[in-house]
Amino acid sequence: MKPAKRLELVPPYLFAGIRQKINAARARGVDVISLGIADPDQPTPDHIIDELVRAIRDESDPDRHRYGGDIPVPDFAEAVASYYKKRFGVTLDPAKEVLTLIGSKEGIQHVAWAFIEPGDVALVPEPGYPVYSMGALFAGGWAHFLPLRKENRWLPDLNAIPLSVLQRTKILWLNYPNNPTAATATREFFAQAVALAHKHGFLICHDAALIDITFDGYVAPSILEVDGAKDVAIEFYSLSKPYNMTGWRIAAAVGNASALAALGLVKEYTDSGVLRAIQFAGAKALTASQECVRQICAVYQRRRDIAYEGLRKVGINLDKPKGSLYVWAEVPAPFKTSAEFAEALLEKAGVVVTPGRGYGEAAEGYFRLSLTYPDARLQEAMERIAKAMSSWGS
Ligand SMILES: *Cc1c(COP(=O)(O)O)cnc(C)c1O
Repeated sequence: MKPAKRLELVPPYLFAGIRQKINAARARGVDVISLGIADPDQPTPDHIIDELVRAIRDESDPDRHRYGGDIPVPDFAEAVASYYKKRFGVTLDPAKEVLTLIGSKEGIQHVAWAFIEPGDVALVPEPGYPVYSMGALFAGGWAHFLPLRKENRWLPDLNAIPLSVLQRTKILWLNYPNNPTAATATREFFAQAVALAHKHGFLICHDAALIDITFDGYVAPSILEVDGAKDVAIEFYSLSKPYNMTGWRIAAAVGNASALAALGLVKEYTDSGVLRAIQFAGAKALTASQECVRQICAVYQRRRDIAYEGLRKVGINLDKPKGSLYVWAEVPAPFKTSAEFAEALLEKAGVVVTPGRGYGEAAEGYFRLSLTYPDARLQEAMERIAKAMSSWGS
């Protein structure tokens, strides 16, 4: 039995290796503080859980146990549209310009199947969420990586893409607030991307999973706020991070109707939708008071401060993030590579960070630390890092 060749192109999933190292250290009795994986530690707000329970028990809905994709639940798509209107001033037709997803990861993978043919290119930021490039590879195309660099504020240099590549490009991936660099983008940058997509006829896919995780009053824009964006762009909006709902698996792709129809067709032969009760709960999350999101952001902002100040104090260089679930920092001397530093931190401090190199060559020299861990653990991690750093004499 021989699996398809395309699987040979798959690098080990970034976090699988990290998990292994954590388990090994724990087996040795080390109290490991893992700041590697970003999965919210706080619970889903009560009013959202209550709506799930109400909907699954609602005997007046005879379809509540049935395929969520087959029997229309307009509530969720309508809630997404009304949310986009209120939050971004963007008008969406819930019937054609909102597509319910089983989490955005699912849509990010499947949109490649809808657009990429053998030989086609997806423009993929490096560092970036690994599913962008794997989607292109699974579909038989290839990823052309756009390096994100500090001197360009972690935005891809759209003017540096060779014309020969642009001519084969079907998808441009963007993601702001950004994983892993925690950078943000302006409407002007999005407008530049939209203009390029109009010129070369490709689809922009903006991964907006972190769009509502922002600090210090910063409000992140949607790419759909840009004039003409809906002609060339879709955006992946996820309930996972703002409402602590990662395990629920609900998100939406919004924007260009024909791109969503193509993605919807792939999904029709792939999945059968999201449980109705989860769709009702998702609608509740988007239409109820957003006070819970403000509270969730306040927690991450406090942790951002702990991490930012803790790392600065020991001479590690980093920018203060305006959003996202991460801090992104420079590997300190005397370490030459992010992997070396991450391994030494695990050995000496029992602290796990994600080495930038795992996200590609352009991210060498940096590491990511996630804010989805309790304040006290984060604080202790900072103390342990400080102690380790002084022992290295840097
Ligand atoms: C968490 C995350 C995802 C995955 O979100 P789901 O909707 O839970 O699949 C995708 N992209 C980024 C940038 C993320 O941070």
